[in-house]
Amino acid sequence: MNTKPILVVGAGFAGACYARTLAEAGYAVTVIDSRSHIGGNAYDEIDHNGNRVHRYGPHLFHTSNEQVVDWVKRFGEWTPYEHRVDAQLADGRLVPLPVNRTTINTVFGAALSNDSEVEAFLRRLAVPCESPRNAAEHLYSKIGIELTDLFFRPYTKKMWLMDLEEVDISVVSRVSIRHDTEDRYFPNDKFQIMPKHGYTAIFSNIFDHPNITVRLSENFNKAMHEDYLHCFNSMPIDAYFDNVLGELPYRSIKFHHRTQESAADWKCSVINFTDARAFTRETAWYLLPHHRQPDGTGYSHTLEEPCDYRDNGLERYYPVKTADMRYQKIYKKYAELADELPYITFIGRCGTYQYLDMHQVINQSLMGAEKWLQRR
Ligand SMILES: Cc1cc2nc3c(=O)[nH]c(=O)nc-3n(C[C@H](O)[C@H](O)[C@H](O)COP(=O)(O)OP(=O)(O)OC[C@H]3O[C@@H](n4cnc5c(N)ncnc54)[C@H](O)[C@@H]3O)c2cc1C
Repeated sequence: MNTKPILVVGAGFAGACYARTLAEAGYAVTVIDSRSHIGGNAYDEIDHNGNRVHRYGPHLFHTSNEQVVDWVKRFGEWTPYEHRVDAQLADGRLVPLPVNRTTINTVFGAALSNDSEVEAFLRRLAVPCESPRNAAEHLYSKIGIELTDLFFRPYTKKMWLMDLEEVDISVVSRVSIRHDTEDRYFPNDKFQIMPKHGYTAIFSNIFDHPNITVRLSENFNKAMHEDYLHCFNSMPIDAYFDNVLGELPYRSIKFHHRTQESAADWKCSVINFTDARAFTRETAWYLLPHHRQPDGTGYSHTLEEPCDYRDNGLERYYPVKTADMRYQKIYKKYAELADELPYITFIGRCGTYQYLDMHQVINQSLMGAEKWLQRR
């Protein structure tokens, strides 16, 4: 056992991966989190209706990375679950999302019957553009104006408070357009699983190690550096440096919960709203596997309303990526400042100012912890 302990700031997936790897290598690790719970944004709990609810929006685990799956399976049972999402059109009809052949046939009243017919159809709709500079030009060049303006324009506006013309291509290219009738949300991922007893139970098991101490409702302060060998920190990097180079903005979400007396007649657990109403999506929690307890009473739903993080108690969810990458340029300068400090490593979503899915955070953090150990 090394004498001086290591400090991990943040009990989300980034902090949990660092803490467990370093603890198993013989280091004493203290994990602090300003929140009153472990799990970061993946935290879930059983609500008053007896439904499991993810406090920070539905978290679907999907990856093709076998090492990541092997690692998370060490800490609890996982159950196969293939996520599907419907989008609600203005007239109330539900169509598969991401857009696939069924979606296109419904929207245009068409009868396209194979991939090549869909390809040819989209080619006719597309507005050619040799080198698209932003999300609007990219989408118009792929699927034309009507589908872009139906499925992407109002949604992007309420999600990012930006027009597609201001948004970077990478923000929309995450969403595929399919020529077949595949309707799974993550069709390319080999592993699509959910924790049988919830994410919080997985986190409890990750932190359950004699070398790990977890302290909740505790904020990081710089005086802590003196007591620790090294600090792995998942706090927002701009906040650590007191915003000296400017603020790194985030979009946030206000969650509105409601209870139904009976289960909704939905095919999918999530419905997205593509129109201009304030909400982006609604989740029916009890439609996710193992989310309704045997003694459940009501049926819990959550609506999501995007907002600026300053209007939501500084809850930082999605880093903002504009087409001119102005905030990523500021982040780079913060990262250069951080490189000069040998006693701290910024980790995770807010430490690296990147939107990262859980499997990506886990992969990066496990590799980061191993690298740090190898250098010692
Ligand atoms: C609405 C929403 C839906 C999502 N859905 C999915 C999904 O379906 N699938 C998927 O793979 N990923 C999803 N994600 C992404 C997922 O939440 C992240 O990949 C993951 O939470 C990142 O882990 P992290 O440890 O980097 O950050 P976090 O989980 O945010 O953990 C960071 C922790 O650090 C703590 N902290 C911050 N500052 C301080 C401080 N100064 N002092 C002490 N503690 C501090 C915070 O309280 C927080 O608990 C979603 C994210 C959001 C916001």
